[in-house]
Amino acid sequence: MTVPFVPQSDRSAHNPSPRPSPLWKGRGGRVALSESESPMRTQPPARPFDTPERAAFRDMVAAFIGKEIAPHADAWDEAGDFPWDLHEKAGALGLFGFGIPEEYGGLGFDDALMRYDSGVLMGYAGVGGVNASLFSRGIMTGPIVQLASEDQKRTALTEIVSGRAGGALAMTEPSGGSDLANLKTKARKAGDKWIIDGEKTFITGGMKASWYVVGARTGGDGFGGVSLFLVPSDAPGFSRTSIERKMGWWCSDTATLHFDGCEVPAENQLGQEGACLLAIMDNFNYERLSLSAGCLGMARRCLDDAIEYAQQRETFGRPLITRQAIRHKIADMSAKIDSLDAYIQMIAWRINEARDGGGPMPAAELAKVKVLASKTAEFCASEAMQILGGAGYLRGCAVERIYREVKVMAIGGGSEEIMRDLAVKQMGL
Ligand SMILES: Cc1cc2nc3c(=O)[nH]c(=O)nc-3n(C[C@H](O)[C@H](O)[C@H](O)COP(=O)(O)OP(=O)(O)OC[C@H]3O[C@@H](n4cnc5c(N)ncnc54)[C@H](O)[C@@H]3O)c2cc1C
Repeated sequence: MTVPFVPQSDRSAHNPSPRPSPLWKGRGGRVALSESESPMRTQPPARPFDTPERAAFRDMVAAFIGKEIAPHADAWDEAGDFPWDLHEKAGALGLFGFGIPEEYGGLGFDDALMRYDSGVLMGYAGVGGVNASLFSRGIMTGPIVQLASEDQKRTALTEIVSGRAGGALAMTEPSGGSDLANLKTKARKAGDKWIIDGEKTFITGGMKASWYVVGARTGGDGFGGVSLFLVPSDAPGFSRTSIERKMGWWCSDTATLHFDGCEVPAENQLGQEGACLLAIMDNFNYERLSLSAGCLGMARRCLDDAIEYAQQRETFGRPLITRQAIRHKIADMSAKIDSLDAYIQMIAWRINEARDGGGPMPAAELAKVKVLASKTAEFCASEAMQILGGAGYLRGCAVERIYREVKVMAIGGGSEEIMRDLAVKQMGL
């Protein structure tokens, strides 16, 4: 007999228990959304770096997801879209504001451990398309903060951070995404303008974004010849086409961008030629932290849903959870998740230390953990699917979505092969 499977977190999502957040203040000093208990049914064994502020932030994000995302996850993904006002709600809570000064609508501080909490909870929501579309702006605001003019920050950055406008980072090209130092899109100076020619593809948030940070070659070979440009979606010579029929992330828009003599004012070059390298590398480090935390959340959701199903489902007259083969799967998933969780928390702490002390980012660890994270999510999605049996194979189930969405985590933001190469290089070998 088929047992309909409704995960606990989906059932309780309709009824989050509201209570005011004592410490965490959202943007503008307002007390943010009401808190609810974390929807995660298993928790990390320890949070050695936790503070009341981080706990309050975590509760706020959990309440936001429980109220605004979880009840709609499946419907939005099937529809291939979600309402824009979710961007504005997330923006109003300050979720896009880490590392961004308050005068541009940001939080005025950064905290890698809060980024970790947000990433884990978004991954746990089990709808990668929402996560990708909301947070694609997070990989393009860093270079704007570092390199854009005051005017550009007051217009573009403020709009993007508030959630009123979308932003996307456009680096990958049809000729390749791993070898970014070899990108082909060109920009040439013509009077007080830059003219950009080329194509970018696989750009998350690309159909709806109002602003793009685009890498284009202005000089010689290698990354030193690449500059970054801020391109508005209404720039002359710019157009975009939607990439449809993705394996996962159905409700996120993904685009190919066309630059046919695309004109932007001279001041839209961000920094000097080659200056992009540092800005973009720092950006990639934060992206890898978020992607790793997202994988951790996805893995934990798979574990939790598998445990719940194994407790409900009976085979041969006994609950599945009593079977040793199933218990061993749960032990293996749990061990991998806990060790990944500890590793990410430690790396997030090191990022904070590096930022505060002016030291280098733990780039090798970020590269290593990204591989560990996508591998852990892949393992847990597969094991959870096996425990759920046929029920896991049906659409409308978080494990089914996560199973399809783990692969992009092993490719985007630096593939597993490129991350391993980078890690070993960063280790000085
Ligand atoms: C859904 C989705 C969303 C994305 N969003 C964005 C975005 O917002 N912005 C953006 O700029 N890009 C985005 N990307 C692109 C992504 O970053 C690239 O797909 C990724 O960097 C890999 O590039 P590629 O697909 O061109 O593969 P390639 O670079 O062609 O590589 C193909 C395979 O070969 C492996 N490989 C490459 N070189 C080596 C080597 N030297 N040794 C061993 N193996 C190697 C790679 O790891 C990969 O597995 C997105 C991709 C997807 C699928």
